[in-house]
Amino acid sequence: MCGIVGIVGNHAVAPRLVDALKRLEYRGYDSAGVATVHEGRLERRRAEGKLVNLERKLADEPLAGNSGIAHTRWATHGAPTETNAHPHFVDGVSVVHNGIIENFGEIKQELAATGATFQTQTDTEVVAQLLARYIRDGKTPRAAVEDMLARVTGAYALAILFEQEPGKIYAARSGPPLAIGYGNGEMFLGSDAIALAPFTNQIAYLTDGDWAVITSTSAEIYDATGTPVKRQRQQSSASAFLIDKGNHRHFMEKEIHEQPEAISHTLGHYIDFAESRIKPVAGIDFASISSLAISACGNRLSRRPDG
Ligand code: GLU
Repeated sequence: MCGIVGIVGNHAVAPRLVDALKRLEYRGYDSAGVATVHEGRLERRRAEGKLVNLERKLADEPLAGNSGIAHTRWATHGAPTETNAHPHFVDGVSVVHNGIIENFGEIKQELAATGATFQTQTDTEVVAQLLARYIRDGKTPRAAVEDMLARVTGAYALAILFEQEPGKIYAARSGPPLAIGYGNGEMFLGSDAIALAPFTNQIAYLTDGDWAVITSTSAEIYDATGTPVKRQRQQSSASAFLIDKGNHRHFMEKEIHEQPEAISHTLGHYIDFAESRIKPVAGIDFASISSLAISACGNRLSRRPDG
């Protein structure tokens, strides 16, 4: 699982976004990035590998701005390179994503056929490309987000920042957890309460299918039908506990729900989903292997009457 953080704040956000990413390091990642909007312009810094590489880039070229989104990536589609690292930028739209867009192939083909030029091998880029397309078609950012969510399928936690609306972050959840943090004149978004712990202990987890518009003083949440909803605000105990259950009842439930993503990440090391081919594995010549021994542990969930 990767990590997502967002701040719509009243002072510089980049250093705080990177600090929040550090608290999500335990989830695993291969690259990282941060984007802010400042004086009407989106800017980003991204780096392969550890967060220290991103910090070095930011030290050389700091990012100003009071609104921003950030991401630690654990690649599923496309190599773990700086080019494929999030945030993705397309024409004034910036996107970070946790999960997998399952129908990215067909959307990519469709957009490419009508002139879109893709910069990355990721599934995520179709989200940014779709939003940019809808904005060019004259839709508002809000309508663009609603239309994009109606088009994509799969598992996602998304944070979206538009150049034209610097004081807003759009968020959506279908699968991976995403929490809104309520601050004092600032609002936050994070994959879990740990990321948000130093900012606020007042959080509300989005429910599957929810999307939200966050400003520095408010959060409007809508369900999958577009109906405004309230999600329970809870006092997070993240400062006391290092690991968070998200809005699952217990860790076993959380881990069960993480299985598809964990398997995708594991397979992602061996399969290039973007090109639909097996990746060569350094040091293993499969042609020379004559047998395989598999060891495993765990329980069967169901048993046939004769079994
Ligand atoms: N599927 C996306 C990618 O490969 C996001 C992976 C993640 O959850 O970090 O870029």
